[in-house]
Amino acid sequence: MEAAADRINLLGLDRQALEAFFVQLGEKPFRARQLMKWIYHQGVADFDAMTDLGKGLREKLKQLAEVRMPEVLTEQLSEDGTRKWLLRMDAANNIETVLIPDDERGTLCISSQVGCAMDCSFCATGKQGFNRNLTAAEIIGQVWMANHSLGAKPGSERAITNIVFMGMGEPLANYKHVVTAIRVLLDDFGYGLSKRRVTVSTSGLVPNMYKLAEDCDVALAVSLHAPDDKLRDVLVPINKVHPIAELMQACRDYVESKDHRHIEVTFEYVMLEGVNDSLEHAQRLAEAVRDVPCKINLIPFNSFQGTQYTRSPQVAIDAFAKLLWQRDIVTITRRTRGDDIDAACGQLAGKVKDRIRRAERRGDSLEVQP
Ligand code: SAH
Ligand code: SF4
Repeated sequence: MEAAADRINLLGLDRQALEAFFVQLGEKPFRARQLMKWIYHQGVADFDAMTDLGKGLREKLKQLAEVRMPEVLTEQLSEDGTRKWLLRMDAANNIETVLIPDDERGTLCISSQVGCAMDCSFCATGKQGFNRNLTAAEIIGQVWMANHSLGAKPGSERAITNIVFMGMGEPLANYKHVVTAIRVLLDDFGYGLSKRRVTVSTSGLVPNMYKLAEDCDVALAVSLHAPDDKLRDVLVPINKVHPIAELMQACRDYVESKDHRHIEVTFEYVMLEGVNDSLEHAQRLAEAVRDVPCKINLIPFNSFQGTQYTRSPQVAIDAFAKLLWQRDIVTITRRTRGDDIDAACGQLAGKVKDRIRRAERRGDSLEVQP
């Protein structure tokens, strides 16, 4: 499909904005629902195929609008079934999107920014620095692209059942575009995902956690990584602005703002050998999260070039988890997925040359024509 700078990419409009768009064209607002069904339920991007729209309207749409997914540079498949796409956002910026298939789930891990400004010391994306926010169209475009690439057929079982904002970037630092994208994910005429199946992960931008509680109904994950401010200041520098006590209060308030029961926050905790992985850390962690309905996800550290950290040994991770269980905290150790293709948590950096070179060496990359 030909991209034109002056055509509006409809993947970036939620239902309300799409209705306004049609009204501007002198059409009825219900056209938005018709169009969304084509785009998100049928995976159709070609206006000519949207037979219930009428020829005149289709012609108008072709002039003014487009449904454009990002350009796929490479697609890699890991030994464990994890899939990673390297996507070109513009001449200078690439991002990565990862699909993690499980027994009955397919979790798509999407990016919200090119790079990240939060500068967490153990994160490859953070080390790369910040380039720019993604637009809502670029965020939803990742989901559209993945469905398209997986050949998701209308009415077939969907390969993508869950979405997590755990790719590159801090989603709450790109608030407006992320919220628009969430609306499309949750809308019945969009992807129709339930609020439990969309998770926003944040390093702790407290003011926007409050906004999110008001604007959307999604699951929240918080990157905690340390039980006290002294250590968290080093690992997650935003802690100097919003320290742990303030963060915990925001988590409690988030849970309380939701009227449905059984909602909890997921605390992510990366396991760094000799840094935050002792039994004393576990003990203090249990105390720090005591008043928040939560579960804890331990993430074995994923290494990348130039990092000073190493992954905690399995025995240390197991002992850490055991202590938390003894304090009645549900604790899951995240399985490391896709690290043979650098698709594991914190390894995404979007560097095209490295990725292509490495993939070619292994011979497992398929170049995909967009
Ligand atoms: N920026 C958001 C979401 C993206 S990162 C956030 O920080 O929450 C998704 C998760 O992977 C976060 O918990 C992040 O701290 C963690 N992570 C980052 N680098 C990692 C690494 N090298 N190994 C393991 N987990 C990492
Ligand atoms: Fe950004 Fe999250 Fe990486 Fe921190 S862990 S630098 S917030 S992407």
